[in-house]
Amino acid sequence: MGSRREILAGVGAGMVLAGISGRSVAAPSRRIGYAIVGLGSYATRQIMPNFAGCDHARLVALVSGTPAKLEQYGAQYGIPPTHRYSYADFDGIRDNPDIDAVYIVLPNSLHAEYSIRAARAGKHVMCEKPMAVSVAECSAMIAACQQAGKKLMIGYRSRFEPYNRLAIDLARSGHVGPTRLITAEHGFAIKPDQWRLDRPLSGGGSMMDIGIYSLNAARYLTGEEPVAVSAVESTDRSDPRFRTVEDRISFMLRFPSGIIANCISSYSSNHNGYRVIGTQGWIDMEPATPYAGQAMSIRKDGVTAPRTLPTTGKNQFAGQLDHLAECIIDGTTPIVAGEEGMADLRVIEAIYRSATERREIRIGA
Ligand code: NAD
Repeated sequence: MGSRREILAGVGAGMVLAGISGRSVAAPSRRIGYAIVGLGSYATRQIMPNFAGCDHARLVALVSGTPAKLEQYGAQYGIPPTHRYSYADFDGIRDNPDIDAVYIVLPNSLHAEYSIRAARAGKHVMCEKPMAVSVAECSAMIAACQQAGKKLMIGYRSRFEPYNRLAIDLARSGHVGPTRLITAEHGFAIKPDQWRLDRPLSGGGSMMDIGIYSLNAARYLTGEEPVAVSAVESTDRSDPRFRTVEDRISFMLRFPSGIIANCISSYSSNHNGYRVIGTQGWIDMEPATPYAGQAMSIRKDGVTAPRTLPTTGKNQFAGQLDHLAECIIDGTTPIVAGEEGMADLRVIEAIYRSATERREIRIGA
């Protein structure tokens, strides 16, 4: 059932549809089957309900350490007991031909281990952001997927969200003139007592979790890789939430074309927005990267106006799930492959180093 030849045979019999990234994708005779690993908040509230809006992906298996969750969500989504796994049984997915891809939605420091085990079990991998907690782990994940001949994609959902896609097109095409500056701010007031505040599980504080949206936006809005970073951190270590991870980081990225991005990451204040400032105006997104409700306004030649898009069509979650499925079906590379996740981690490592050493860090030098 799950072999590439059979999938492709199904493709031949299917009709041609428009893919999320604008290309045509043949509809397979069956959808790409996903196993979800980690039945926490994001998996159960955002990812699993959105398979309903997919054209090429379906939920076929669940992996959790909690039998009651396997029972509850198994019953809710019609996943039979044969397709429910504990972490101890995880490698048994190898023998389940209904599972084509595995979606890792675990705490950050478990991403590398489960991605590598999934690839070794012969499955394609979707992994949540941050891809891992170090560049070295990212590199091992990429190598494991390459060796297994499997795709690796990172859960950068904003790349499948219509307003962010429009912002990328407008910014890169110079709609408000060539980009000179970008500001990007992401943060929220974090509640105590959770894995995000425990460094061995999170790999870091706000930067790994929410500041990564500011960084990723600066990279996707420019289409460039930063050459240098300067960062300042401020953390009240007497606050019980911040015993092992950082609270706020302000960081500045310098890009090869001369664009400067001023970015904020915070675990103690609310932010969600970015602005692309060009020579003739700006493109503003606030909020920019929530699950829904993006708002854009554009100032050009002295006139400011909101920009709205139709609300119909696939949402970012279904778009993301279908994108990996399309890549598996037609043998192409995801637009947010492992290299994209590793590029963010490379900058995050430089941001932490800059904050610690109190100097600008050159990247890739
Ligand atoms: P969560 O705490 O709600 O869920 C984590 C799950 O992992 C839980 O079900 C927990 O039981 C399980 N788990 C397995 N081993 C564990 C261990 N050793 N310690 C703690 N938990 C363990 O977290 P979440 O918000 O669902 O986040 C999970 C991942 O998804 C993170 O990497 C996070 O960055 C990412 N995420 C992404 C988005 C997005 O918009 N792309 C949003 C939220 C979370």
